[in-house]
Amino acid sequence: MNKIILQDCPICASKDTACIFTPGRAQIEQFKSLSEKKYSGAMDGWTEVLSLKVLRCQKCFHVWHNEVPALPELIQMYSGSSKREGAKKHELSDERRAYIRSEMGFLRASCPARRPLELLDYGSGRGHWIQGALDAGFGKVYAYDPSFERLSAAPEDARITKTNDLKDFQKTFDAINCEQVFEHVLSPVEELSALRRLASAETVLRISVPLVRGEDPAALMGTFPFKDEVVHILSPFEHLHGFSRKSFGILLERAGLKPVRPGLASGLKYPRQMGRVLLGKSNFNLVRFANP
Ligand SMILES: [Zn+2]
Repeated sequence: MNKIILQDCPICASKDTACIFTPGRAQIEQFKSLSEKKYSGAMDGWTEVLSLKVLRCQKCFHVWHNEVPALPELIQMYSGSSKREGAKKHELSDERRAYIRSEMGFLRASCPARRPLELLDYGSGRGHWIQGALDAGFGKVYAYDPSFERLSAAPEDARITKTNDLKDFQKTFDAINCEQVFEHVLSPVEELSALRRLASAETVLRISVPLVRGEDPAALMGTFPFKDEVVHILSPFEHLHGFSRKSFGILLERAGLKPVRPGLASGLKYPRQMGRVLLGKSNFNLVRFANP
């Protein structure tokens, strides 16, 4: 297999890094059982090539896997996971469905009014968010996922377009949703920079990533790679990155987004979004960065 070594901080590029985790025999055994239990054996033999070491940036507190598989192996791993999930029907709880719909409602209401609004769900997985976007009133939704198996499992509808190749899209979208995507990709900065091609200055971008909390490496890595049914924030090798608040902000800026100062100028530039923030109907995060 081909591996990629990420030595310097993949977010802020600092060389000031520390190794906070080297696996012992028990964690290597657990990794092998993860391969078997969750990925139909797609990661068998990987520990002979990949060290499972975890590094942390001393500048922005980002954490990441030092050695990661190349894209073809990652796609093969996701296919192994889909094979596993395909057997059981993946149903959402009513609570989760309501949450997704409400997040998509916020997003739709934050877009400049134009009908029908078009949304790109970047990293659409099994399509729970495209369904939520349609339920919340988006007119057309586009699902992008590199895994063909996951796209096939997503809902079918005349208002849905699916692709596993972004070159298919030569347009910009009213809204782009990235639900827990950037912790999965090899190079978040490159990927978000490339995604800006599909966004205009008016596009509203929603990004969610899990945040690493706490400074203590022993507490952070104590449950790696999983504990009971809960997988770790750096679950190998689905999650390649663990963001801190600081590294997430640096990701946005290095990808070319510009921080917006709260005040009259941003209120005039983004009246609809800012109005919703002042009314308590939206989150200020939606207007903290602009796409110049
Ligand atoms: Zn860093």
